Amino acid sequence: MCTYHEIFKGRFVGLRIGGAHIDTPARRPVINPATGEAFASVPLAAPEHLESAVAAARGAFPAWRALSWAERQELLERLAGRMEQARDELADLLTLEQGKPRHSAAADEVGYAIGWLREVARRRLADQVLEDAPRHRVDKSYVPLGVAGLIVPWNFPLCLAAWKFAPALITGNTVILKPSPYTPLTALRLAELAEGVLPPGVFTVLTGDDELGRWMVEHPGIAKISFTGSAATGQRVMAGAATGLKRVTLELGGNDPAIVLPDADLDAVVPKLFWGAFGNSGQWCVGIKRLYVHDDLYPQLLDALAAYARGVRMGDGMDAASQLGPLQNVRQYEKVRGLLADCVAHGQRFALGGEAVPGPGYFVPVTIVDNPPDDSRVVVEEAFGPVLPVLRYRDFDDVVRRANDTGYGLGASIWGRDTAFAQALAGRLEAGTVWINEVYVHGVDFPFGGHKLSGLGVEHGTEGLAAYANLKIVMSAR
Ligand code: NAD
Repeated sequence: MCTYHEIFKGRFVGLRIGGAHIDTPARRPVINPATGEAFASVPLAAPEHLESAVAAARGAFPAWRALSWAERQELLERLAGRMEQARDELADLLTLEQGKPRHSAAADEVGYAIGWLREVARRRLADQVLEDAPRHRVDKSYVPLGVAGLIVPWNFPLCLAAWKFAPALITGNTVILKPSPYTPLTALRLAELAEGVLPPGVFTVLTGDDELGRWMVEHPGIAKISFTGSAATGQRVMAGAATGLKRVTLELGGNDPAIVLPDADLDAVVPKLFWGAFGNSGQWCVGIKRLYVHDDLYPQLLDALAAYARGVRMGDGMDAASQLGPLQNVRQYEKVRGLLADCVAHGQRFALGGEAVPGPGYFVPVTIVDNPPDDSRVVVEEAFGPVLPVLRYRDFDDVVRRANDTGYGLGASIWGRDTAFAQALAGRLEAGTVWINEVYVHGVDFPFGGHKLSGLGVEHGTEGLAAYANLKIVMSAR
């Protein structure tokens, strides 16, 4: 296990722009959420650094797009190899900056990002002949857009970055990646690993404040923004990208319902429901955020879920015994505490938890709220923390209506033995992905995106790759 200082010891921890190493006059502290203490600092990019990065990325674009898919794949494969060698360091950094447990969630995320990069690098967008007649031929092809600006949040810093830079690069774009101001270190380490593998300017990481994201969205030299974050920021991104008609992909928040059917196998579903709701301490977009349980099962399920939760240990992610970490930042910690205070103020009952743990660190215990009203804040808002409202239902039409009664439409899940019935119900849920007897499963070939306020466009699959290209049609008379 290393500390930040050991990982970067004696090495440059600044910006790498077009092959140059640049330090910024201003730096920003990085806080360890398990202690609340600053343990590192990173460059705070200013507009001139963005200018240099865009110039480098635009300069690198013609040669990068001119490479064959196989040549780009080979370079991305080498980057994945370097990440593999730095696996332990990346996992250490991820835990230090994000808080998730080092030996489970952090190690898994690093491995996942490497595997994702390798898999996406094998994918292709195939050109097509749409018509090949004696007097006329029509060819369809995909052309890369140019510089892609990639903006990611703090809950899965490496995985969500890989979801973006892998497809952007294999399709022939150059990229500028902006990590969350709260979790910049793994991205900076990625930039270091990419140096000497990818040509200068192809993959640039810029660390900075939220403002940097806004400058990227408005920059005329950037052709596309792929953004993952909150719905509120996503709407600002879309407005900012209107000038110049920048392409946008938005992966935003969710308030995903899970519906437990009366025939569900409790022993089998309880652990899955627990990790679906509380994994990553509830800080994920497709986590279960409202759990609807049929009346016939409600008391047993509530007890079983609370009993399971009592056996799960929360603590500093660097402690090998920890299965859940803290909330990632103080803003999120205060927001979740506000939700708990609202539950208390309205006399709602906690089946478990309910009180934030006094410092240090941003710890909120696993909290289960017993059947709060549908219009309570804990049901209506995306908690993005380890707080789950469990809600009773009796009638299927009613539960579908309640599940859909939200501005969000990211994911949903249904749990029960009768899969034909579950599939019929799935057809009625307003969500980009509906899982049956599983949740948060993603795949390189399965498009993922939100309905309603949860997003615009998709990532993954052919559609996700095509989102980094313009379609081009060439028609020839013969
Ligand atoms: P956020 O919207 O505050 O920030 C996300 C990123 O946007 C950060 O890098 C931030 O610096 C940047 N940013 C802030 N203001 C900006 C602006 N005006 N223009 C451009 N960029 C700007 O979100 P967050 O709090 O970091 O992340 C939590 C949210 O992300 C939750 O709502 C969660 O559901 C969502 N999320 C969605 C997905 C998905 O795939 N749909 C995945 C993970 C998280």
